[in-house]
Amino acid sequence: MKIELPGAPPPVSVGKLLCIGRNYADHAAEMQRAVPEEPMVFLKPASALIRTGEAVRLPPQSTNVHHEIELVAVMGTEGKHIPEDKALDHVAAYAVGLDMTARDLQAKAKERRHPWSVAKGFDTFAPLGPLTPASEIKNPQDLTLRLSVNGDVRQEASTERLIFAVRNLVQYCSQIFTLTPGDLLYTGTPSGVGPVEDGDELEATATGIDPLRVSV
Ligand code: MG
Repeated sequence: MKIELPGAPPPVSVGKLLCIGRNYADHAAEMQRAVPEEPMVFLKPASALIRTGEAVRLPPQSTNVHHEIELVAVMGTEGKHIPEDKALDHVAAYAVGLDMTARDLQAKAKERRHPWSVAKGFDTFAPLGPLTPASEIKNPQDLTLRLSVNGDVRQEASTERLIFAVRNLVQYCSQIFTLTPGDLLYTGTPSGVGPVEDGDELEATATGIDPLRVSV
């Protein structure tokens, strides 16, 4: 899939989907897990991506698929070993995303010490909303994230409560991976995660960013 970065046509291919686990203390607590000492990074395949207006498909392998609203930073320029004070210069845009998670398969994977690729990687498990140019977002750590299911608010939190801020995550991830334009960084979810069902309508918003709407 290709995405259009602000001010830089032609569209670029979506690269890596870098995702951060347990990046809000209240979500770590609801999962009965400790807060990590350094960012916990996992990857989703680009084939999991869908855009606003599309539908999440519930896979037959799971009976418990959860929503996780997350702020997504969209990388605009290549970088490796990016220093923290330059990190936000590499972000072209922000969007709201959902890190859909097969919670039952994730629990099984945790028990067996297996990776989360299956629980997190199904087709349609990475909805991404419209991109807002980074220049329009003064402070990515001062946005209110809100997820509603059929009009009921289920998750609501400020990104000021991120344990590792966007600049920390870009710096950290770029020590491991070369970041390239079209990479997406899903920054973690606050508390309030829960199951979705066939027919649900999900709306995810963040201050100053166009909403993401998907059905199930
Ligand atoms: Mg997540």
